[in-house]
Amino acid sequence: MPPVDHPTVDRYDYICIGGGSGGVASSRRAASYGKKVALIEVSPYLGGTCVNVGCVPKKIMWHAADMADRLRHAADGYQFRGVPEPNFDWRTFKVQRDAYIRKLNNIYESNLEREKVEHHPGYASFVGKDAIEVIKPNGEKYVMHADHITIAVGGCPVIPSNEKIPGASLGIDSDGFFELEDRPKRVAIVGAGYIAVELAGVLNALGSETHLIIRKDKVLRSFDPTLHDILTPWMEHTGIKIHKHSNVTKVEGEKGQTLTVHTDKEGAIEVDCLLWAIGRRSNTESLGLQDVGVEIDRKGDIVVDDYQNTSTKGIYAIGDVQGKALLTPVAIAAGRRLSNRLFGPEKFKGDKLSYNNIPTVVFSHPPIGTVGLTEPEARQLYGDDVKIYKSSFRSLYFSQIDEEHKEPTVYKLIVVGEEERVVGVHMIGQGSDEALQGFAVAVKMGARKKDLDDTVAIHPTSAEELVTMR
Ligand code: FAD
Ligand code: NDP
Repeated sequence: MPPVDHPTVDRYDYICIGGGSGGVASSRRAASYGKKVALIEVSPYLGGTCVNVGCVPKKIMWHAADMADRLRHAADGYQFRGVPEPNFDWRTFKVQRDAYIRKLNNIYESNLEREKVEHHPGYASFVGKDAIEVIKPNGEKYVMHADHITIAVGGCPVIPSNEKIPGASLGIDSDGFFELEDRPKRVAIVGAGYIAVELAGVLNALGSETHLIIRKDKVLRSFDPTLHDILTPWMEHTGIKIHKHSNVTKVEGEKGQTLTVHTDKEGAIEVDCLLWAIGRRSNTESLGLQDVGVEIDRKGDIVVDDYQNTSTKGIYAIGDVQGKALLTPVAIAAGRRLSNRLFGPEKFKGDKLSYNNIPTVVFSHPPIGTVGLTEPEARQLYGDDVKIYKSSFRSLYFSQIDEEHKEPTVYKLIVVGEEERVVGVHMIGQGSDEALQGFAVAVKMGARKKDLDDTVAIHPTSAEELVTMR
């Protein structure tokens, strides 16, 4: 069933607004229960943020950056001859990367077709509690009705207004990063969260002069202190110029040409590209939510209960638009569970996603993996019952690399009480991204330190340190 441009029934069982991680997962799950499902997506490309301008192209760029480091290690440390100094052909790679993303878009389309989810291209908004108006790409409109409607419209990057910071719109955001045809020779990134850290790492490793402008003195402030205490100086060590306690006050120049970025602390920086990575906001503005009684909070995120119910019966919200844990697997898991609960067999009637102990990785250089409570959170909850195990080392890979380029690895376990239940695992170092998933299972299952100790180590790996800590 190719995309359709009109309702095919008077009333659908289920409508999902948004064809990103959450909407696609939820609608496919609902259709698997034999329900009549429609999914409305405004972009010509299915898959949402993750596929088009998020996780997927970002991780591909991270691999490219990682490869640049490894080429240097091959020549300088592992004594390979004939390895050229990395010279990344960004322009050609972008074409190849984009082609891969288009393939994914097509796979998303065929998955919907195969599972009989009707794909309606267009912009959706509420015109009644059970009624959605779709504005088609050609501007025509129609209205669809459903018993259950899920809002999965995600969010978009925030850029300060020109009134607040003159010239701010001369900068790009993470969406713009994926449109860059060439590598900027000099780049300033504003922000201290996931996106700022990840893109600064990529650009730096691929050879851009990289400035990171942060309001405080460290990156990833909401993460466990050990992680930001290791990562912030290491980023500086690798050549990223971090402008601490700095705010952009004005930007001058022309897009695509040299920009002068003025800061309140360290004067002006000349760059070819300014990238804002200061957070995202939900796409709730033009959905007509007020008219149907769906409550949004001060930030513009939709308020939901533990079951993804909004304040209006029959209307639900999943994924980034509900403002908690903005991660693809969270949107997918919440969407599937919601459809299980609404349309699945009796055993799923209470199904919901637990937002506790969600593992997450920052694709920094080196990567970070973290699950559970940070040390300050644990101490606030459990006081003196908290015990910390920590191990700092250099992974074997770096034994052949000169001192200056040996990346740090630090693992930290946070345990509580006499039984030493593990309430937090925080890792930074090569391989932490892949190692975390299994430990996240252990934390979710309520593992004690003893359970880790009872598990035989896998040697020689870095992750074995987590089961041999004393
Ligand atoms: P989205 O995927 O954003 O989908 C929403 C969809 O709704 C969009 O396709 C949009 O076009 C559509 N839409 C909006 N309004 C309407 C409307 N009115 N009518 C019809 N359609 C509409 N997460 C990870 O887990 N790992 C990562 O490594 C990671 N990296 C990221 C890197 C970047 C640069 C960014 C920006 C995000 C990253 N994320 C990552 C976060 C992840 O992409 C999001 O959490 C995830 O995509 C959220 O899914 P969603 O379904 O809520 O929203
Ligand atoms: P984040 O919320 O992670 O970080 C934004 C940071 O920018 C803030 O923490 C803040 O740090 C800083 N900031 C906020 N406002 C300003 C301002 N006005 N001026 C300067 N700095 C400011 O947002 P991101 O945009 O990086 O990412 C959005 C979300 O997408 C993430 O939270 C994450 O959930 C998801 N994501 C996940 C990834 C992954 O799983 N690997 C990768 C990328 C995104 P401070 O207070 O210290 O100044």
